[in-house]
Amino acid sequence: MTESPYRKDLPPIPWRLRARPIHRGYPVPWFVCEVDGVPDFRIVDSRKFKPALERRLCWLCGRPLGQYLAFAIGPMCAINRVNSEPPSHRECAQFAMQGCPFLTSRKRATARLDCPWASLTRPAFRSCASLARGACG
Ligand SMILES: [Zn+2]
Repeated sequence: MTESPYRKDLPPIPWRLRARPIHRGYPVPWFVCEVDGVPDFRIVDSRKFKPALERRLCWLCGRPLGQYLAFAIGPMCAINRVNSEPPSHRECAQFAMQGCPFLTSRKRATARLDCPWASLTRPAFRSCASLARGACG
């Protein structure tokens, strides 16, 4: 029996996310930007936003969505009734809410970014396009 490539502290990985690449023991969400070939979980690949909405693709696994849509939101999104990310499968969103360090740990979420173009103080989900222009921050 082979050992799991995932971190032991993660909840069960939904089957759709198991098809995603793995980095540092985490499945790499579809929206994550790669910087120099390395996934940077703090950065959204803005090029995925339009196809996610137009083709109804899950923001986390990149596979087609079904009839029901789920959003991984926080309290302010519920109050404002605004969400900045496209929908996901329910199982993918549940996994993100339980296993994503940015969503489960406020300390990590506010950690300083190691951005080569600027120093940021929050995971502001900068886009790859802004990184390419050197406009990060
Ligand atoms: Zn999904």
